[in-house]
Amino acid sequence: MLKFHNTLSGQLQEFKPLDGNNVRLYICGPTVWSFAHIGNFRTFTFGDVLRRYLKFKGYNLTHVFNLTDVDDRIINEAKAADKTIDEFTAPFIEAFWEDFDALGLERPEITPRATHHIAEMISIIETLLKNGRAYKSNGSIYYRISAFPDYGKLSKINFAGNVSGASGRIDTDKYDKENAQDFALWKLVDADEPTGWDASFGRGRPGWHIECSAMAMKYLSETFDIHAGGVDLKFPHHENEIAQSEGATGKLFAKVWLHSEHLKVEGETMSKSLGNYYTFRDLIAKDYSAVAIRYLLMSVPYHKQLNFTFETLDGAEQTIGRLRDFRKRLQEANLPDGINTDLQGKVGAYLDDFEMAMDDNLNTSIALAALHNLVRETNTAMAHAVACTEDRSVILHAIDKFDQVLGIFGEAKTEMLDAEIENLIEERQAARRNRNFARSDEIRDTLAEQGIILEDTKDGVRWKRK
Ligand SMILES: [Zn+2]
Repeated sequence: MLKFHNTLSGQLQEFKPLDGNNVRLYICGPTVWSFAHIGNFRTFTFGDVLRRYLKFKGYNLTHVFNLTDVDDRIINEAKAADKTIDEFTAPFIEAFWEDFDALGLERPEITPRATHHIAEMISIIETLLKNGRAYKSNGSIYYRISAFPDYGKLSKINFAGNVSGASGRIDTDKYDKENAQDFALWKLVDADEPTGWDASFGRGRPGWHIECSAMAMKYLSETFDIHAGGVDLKFPHHENEIAQSEGATGKLFAKVWLHSEHLKVEGETMSKSLGNYYTFRDLIAKDYSAVAIRYLLMSVPYHKQLNFTFETLDGAEQTIGRLRDFRKRLQEANLPDGINTDLQGKVGAYLDDFEMAMDDNLNTSIALAALHNLVRETNTAMAHAVACTEDRSVILHAIDKFDQVLGIFGEAKTEMLDAEIENLIEERQAARRNRNFARSDEIRDTLAEQGIILEDTKDGVRWKRK
């Protein structure tokens, strides 16, 4: 039975979709103004494990993951670079998806951009203005917190009795408001400002929070199953999403809220000033593999803080090597004929352990331990020559099941050795000299399948791996 720790209820709860077998999931995506860092990718890797596990459990999934492509920073940086916001964000969007794919994160079904959903945001703001939960001040539109008594129900912050101005600390909007906690839904822009949209309540641009309400409700309906994101978004972003959405519809917005905890680096909060700030690309440039980074990011359950260290990343690199090596040996081993029902029983039990751990609020560390137990047990059986031919496919199938969620084993292809590649290249040269183009094309295709790129130079043919 799948259970989640729901931030909204504060409890571990059995998960039941609102609509039969269909699950609707929203996860807050990146702001595309720079390369995403490993803290961001911890949250997105958690999102990937969540989506893969929901599919593993047999649910049909509609997963929305937004890109924030307009905010104050983007507007300012674009202006400084003398670009439109589209021109400014395009390379970061491209880089983001490259990193996302490299980490083995499955693409969500719907990946909307904020700037393509301004009309939907305007419509929610119009509703809030009509029902008194929003007001206009100096050309901008604000959400009136005092008109939404449930405000604080997600973050459990008690706002009752707060006097206007008393909590200016949490106020990030430098505009005129009735109350310090009121937040901007729509910001007035100057007449000469290129980034702005016309609305019935005046020309401006959206606040950040309204975009997620608009895109979530557009694609998942007014009430949906799961809303997830990093814990840093719980307040004010997610609290504000609830206020906007429920304030407009009068209905529950998301039933279950999941928050992934912070990532620390070598025990410290990641920051540029401490010199411990890493993007995914920084780690790839240090020759770490994407799959080891993935492994490390999911090795600690999402609801616990993760301490990222280079020692643990080195360890993850070794673990991945060992796991892939294990599968290759199992595929190729010369096993005795027969069947070992005891071993097969244990393999089945480890799969059960895996599912039980994942059912328990996605406890990935216990789930990974189940995989390592399967590897150890099989290795011992192979060493004693009691793993048999009929066990092989059962164990390989179990690994595939684990990997539907974990995504760490990679394609089960065997890599060609350098010497084999060079022999094939020589054979291809000979075939070409003999005008046997069919054979030469066949060899080129074989090499391409292995990800080998050939380059004709004046010193002969050079090759490299993709
Ligand atoms: Zn959001």
